[in-house]
Amino acid sequence: MLTHNCFKCWILSIGLLFLMGCESTLDETNSKNVVCTTNILANTVRQLLPDDIDVVSLMGPGVDPHLYKAGQGDLEILQEAGIIIENGLHLEGKMAEVFKKLQKYKPVISASDGIEKGELIQIEKEVYDPHIWFDVQMWKMSSKLLSERLALEFPDRSEEISRRSDFWASKLDSLHLWIRKEIEQLPKNRRVLVTAHDAFSYFGRAYGIEVKGLQGISTQSEYGLKDVSDLVDYLAENKVPAVFVETSVSEKSLVAVIEGCKRKNHNVIIGGQLYSDALGGKEEPGDNYKNMVSHNVKTIVGALNSGSDEG
Ligand SMILES: [Zn+2]
Repeated sequence: MLTHNCFKCWILSIGLLFLMGCESTLDETNSKNVVCTTNILANTVRQLLPDDIDVVSLMGPGVDPHLYKAGQGDLEILQEAGIIIENGLHLEGKMAEVFKKLQKYKPVISASDGIEKGELIQIEKEVYDPHIWFDVQMWKMSSKLLSERLALEFPDRSEEISRRSDFWASKLDSLHLWIRKEIEQLPKNRRVLVTAHDAFSYFGRAYGIEVKGLQGISTQSEYGLKDVSDLVDYLAENKVPAVFVETSVSEKSLVAVIEGCKRKNHNVIIGGQLYSDALGGKEEPGDNYKNMVSHNVKTIVGALNSGSDEG
């Protein structure tokens, strides 16, 4: 009996040794892959890293990161990830616990660490607006931090990463200037952006547009009848011609606002669909960061410029 047990132990140990051996060979042969939470991050990181390094996104087109929970498949991807990149500032609110655990075993980099606290829009004590990608200059800061951290993770590729990072920064600079020029086409009293949730505060601050959302910075927050009637009053008083829906948020919340305006004899149209917290799918207008931002700007300027003034 004793011998039999010992034999079982021996088989088990050999098995374990074999498994451990396999693991270390895998680590040596596979280069680290990078797993990002949102596709906005993945697209940005893709610009920074050499093409042969794998970059994947957990969340696809139209997915709302505020409500996203990691499923079993995601947990497996995260377990196997070499490096994890998140936005931070509680954008991925329901994944915080998972990242806290994984941080003990692998680097978890937050893009928002690239921005100084003083630059962030504070909502309440220790709560900051996470939608940093809509101020292109701020996204340049985040991208720089990501490239620096990634260069440390891939030391033998650091030169290429730094070269790519400079090129990306120059692309972001031109995008930033282009947005400024586009917004200048709008008369000052038309520079008002109304959406379902407050994803555009950094955009508004950077490019001189007043921004109003129905739901607050997270799609988890509730809105009440008072929020709807306040927004209706604002739109009617300021003769705002259009409101905008978002690809990752239900447009239901804005229907009540449009109806309310009608009752006040102010006609508000849906000016188009904006990408807020996720890129669009392949062959959609917002299929990468630059296209997403320029699609939004064209949609906003087009709708606010064409709306009719009412008496
Ligand atoms: Zn959001």
